[in-house]
Amino acid sequence: VGAEDVTSTIKNGDMVIVDGLHGDIIVDPSQAQIDEYQAKADSFEKERAEWAKLVDAPSVSKDGQHFEIAANIGTPDDVADAVKQGADGVGLFRSEFLYMSSDHLPTEDEQFEAYKKAVVGMQGKPVVVRTLDIGGDKPLNYLPLPEEMNPFLGYRAIRICLHRPDIFKTQLRALIRASEFGPVEIMFPMIATLAELRQAKAIYQECKDELQKDHPGLGDNVKIGMMIEVPLAALYADQLAKEVDFFSIGTNDLIQYCFAADRGNDAVSYLYQPLNPAFLRLIKHVIDAAHANNTKAAMCGEMAGDQLAMPLLLGMGLDEYSMSASSILRTRSMMKDLDTKECAKWANDAINLCYTADEVEKMVKTRLGLD
Ligand code: PEP
Ligand code: MG
Repeated sequence: VGAEDVTSTIKNGDMVIVDGLHGDIIVDPSQAQIDEYQAKADSFEKERAEWAKLVDAPSVSKDGQHFEIAANIGTPDDVADAVKQGADGVGLFRSEFLYMSSDHLPTEDEQFEAYKKAVVGMQGKPVVVRTLDIGGDKPLNYLPLPEEMNPFLGYRAIRICLHRPDIFKTQLRALIRASEFGPVEIMFPMIATLAELRQAKAIYQECKDELQKDHPGLGDNVKIGMMIEVPLAALYADQLAKEVDFFSIGTNDLIQYCFAADRGNDAVSYLYQPLNPAFLRLIKHVIDAAHANNTKAAMCGEMAGDQLAMPLLLGMGLDEYSMSASSILRTRSMMKDLDTKECAKWANDAINLCYTADEVEKMVKTRLGLD
């Protein structure tokens, strides 16, 4: 979170104001600061009460275009909050938490129960489950992975699954079985090449064929997608789009790989620049490539819930925005006041007339009247 030495300098009993909207921490605030932040908190609560009215409303722009605002979840228990916040679906179920909270590789039945619970809980709305994404920053104690110099560039996610089809198939079988209880979509993380995607799909097909021997038709409604997290995949989106039902852009990783800046290293956090014009150009390329092939374009990295990025993404035609449940209603509220044609102009200006992320930020803030 980039709070540097805050945990060692704050003493027990200190009063602390945490402004989670702007990333500020004030230790031992003055009375004037307390009053100021109390007023801010009160007005934020009023805003939240307004947003809450949209819980059953569709996610629609001012000019009547429909989009989806979905939730990112880590466990089936998170579904309750996603529903409470009016999610149009689950856009990212980070399935590795099932593995991380267990002391053994979860069995097919254990996984089936978890996915079924999430699917049933979403009451007919789609649940996008990402297949196992361990390695990098997510270790598994009972599956020791080799020490690596560059774990984020190493043996992780789909690379492990393709190397260990036994682990992969257990998960895929559980997911196909869960699809009997509601719409399940499966996406593969960290795909770099078309060959990896094809290999993953072939293993999926094998699982489906095996299961269909006893249950004809099982899994036929499951949609298959891939995450766009590796720059090469983003560049090659026009070809990849022909072989999936949807893309989900994982901007947390895509940014770290595009800028060659470790997402967990505070010293290089200034390079986390979702609004950088060159990065926006790449995002637009991915969305356009998806649409040229009738493939849905979703985003499930933090950028999808970023209120300055959202108008630009709307202008580029991104179909689905998946974010932490707590951001859904704010985003829906913002969307209803935005015109997609106007936003398309903003996105073009950001890409073609701005040269830095700061310039884009300033432009969006001005146009949103936030300055
Ligand atoms: C991403 O990389 O943007 C993403 C959604 O996946 P994670 O943050 O789990 O790596
Ligand atoms: Mg990722």
